[in-house]
Amino acid sequence: MSPVNPNSNFFLFSVDLEDVRDFIPNGNKYKEAVPANTIKYLDWLDKVNAKTTFFIVGTVARTYPDLIREIIKRGHETASHTDNHLHLTKQTEDEFRKDCDSFLNTMYSLGATSVKGFRAPTFSMVEQSKWAYKVLNEFGFTYSSSVLPSTNPMFGWPEFKGEGYYEGIYELPMNVGSWPFKVPFGGGVYFRFFPTFILKELFRSTFQTNKPVLSYLHPYDVDTEQERFMHPHLNDSKALNWLMYVNRTGVFERMEYLIKNLNASIVRYDEYLKPKLQQS
Ligand SMILES: [Zn+2]
Repeated sequence: MSPVNPNSNFFLFSVDLEDVRDFIPNGNKYKEAVPANTIKYLDWLDKVNAKTTFFIVGTVARTYPDLIREIIKRGHETASHTDNHLHLTKQTEDEFRKDCDSFLNTMYSLGATSVKGFRAPTFSMVEQSKWAYKVLNEFGFTYSSSVLPSTNPMFGWPEFKGEGYYEGIYELPMNVGSWPFKVPFGGGVYFRFFPTFILKELFRSTFQTNKPVLSYLHPYDVDTEQERFMHPHLNDSKALNWLMYVNRTGVFERMEYLIKNLNASIVRYDEYLKPKLQQS
């Protein structure tokens, strides 16, 4: 792999590989969608000649082992999105140790050779769960992308000090827009909801400060055939559920437009971080 050019504009796109059906009662009565939608990402990444990072839930890896092997075979990084997508705030330190152990055993048994990255479910790395950095360090992780440094109805850590080391783990927090207002914009619902011209301006102003744009998308973000059901964690809000389905058809086109028009590159998180981690 060629070294990353530190002067590029980096779009740190990633996939949070989870199955939303696992989060609702009787979810398995809905159609299986993870493999087909993950393949859409893999094929699109081949098309634009890019490698990225997949933050994977352990239960999903055990359900779809061939899919994980395919991700590895196509040259992408495999990282942890925990073993069963339990928020860090709902785990004790020892439970999280078991979670890391189980996840890593699964990934190494499927052929992963090095698992260094971590993303907390629903950005649940907050003041009360920051003990998790120490545990990640014990298990050989080197970086995390788990903090939303703003207020949020679910999780957020507005006082977070910014990118850097925490208990031996390098944290790359999500971006928060400074224009036109302080909200996340790089991933999931936010990425689909904002009009393209606003996203372009948010990306452009981030690149201007020599920062990457971090992004996360899920299999469901490109699932145009998903049955309508209430998504988890949304307090049964019909408006929020509506948002869960907005503009799923336009995701790939939008990403292509942004990378072309802003001269941005997609790279694996571990590749992007290599020069930073070597310096320290
Ligand atoms: Zn997740």
